[in-house]
Amino acid sequence: MARYALVIDIAKCTGCRSCVAACKLENMVQKGNYWNFVLEYEEGEYPNVRRWFVPMNCMHCENPPCMKACPEGAIKKNEYGVVLIDYNKCKGRRYCIAACPYGVIHYISKEENFYPGEKTPYEKLPSDARHPLHRKKPGVAEKCTLCWHRIEKALKEGKKPGSDYDSTPACVPVCPAEARYFGDLDDPESIVSKLIKKRKVKVLKEEFGTKPKVYYLF
Ligand code: SF4
Repeated sequence: MARYALVIDIAKCTGCRSCVAACKLENMVQKGNYWNFVLEYEEGEYPNVRRWFVPMNCMHCENPPCMKACPEGAIKKNEYGVVLIDYNKCKGRRYCIAACPYGVIHYISKEENFYPGEKTPYEKLPSDARHPLHRKKPGVAEKCTLCWHRIEKALKEGKKPGSDYDSTPACVPVCPAEARYFGDLDDPESIVSKLIKKRKVKVLKEEFGTKPKVYYLF
């Protein structure tokens, strides 16, 4: 079975946020929330200063504390290692937000994320373009799905996820710096396996034992 992962090359990232915009559009993330965002750090003193950009999204942890924290059992890791929230089960208690060490889960608030009477992005879609993963509504938690709707479609069509634009998470092919890579950790020939083997990689907050599947190249 495949285990899907992202590798992000921090040395290449220019902080342009194309990934942020692509994610918002692809996943219909309503205003005020972001499944994908970029942290910025400055190193050194003028004139020898270096700015680092660190794109953040759900790390699709092997050992996800968000899943354990959910009293409803609304968060599950699927057989491909992708951590997903079931919006029908989520009661918006937000324990997952407190449990996630990466700050990548967001709550959808009727007051803060919508104008009065505004429809959700899912409701605005024609019915034949709707996917259950887009059925978000006020009062639930949301986060990156690694564009599971794209991966799932590719698998159903017998395509290898990551083999073309449509079967890859939307943040990856839009990156003008080509700093983002997607693939299967269990396939030694995948681009992510090769990069992890050849280059110096880091995962964030390793000490929490979450075993993230987003790797950073420095
Ligand atoms: Fe859960 Fe946070 Fe890990 Fe994503 S990064 S799987 S939300 S604990």
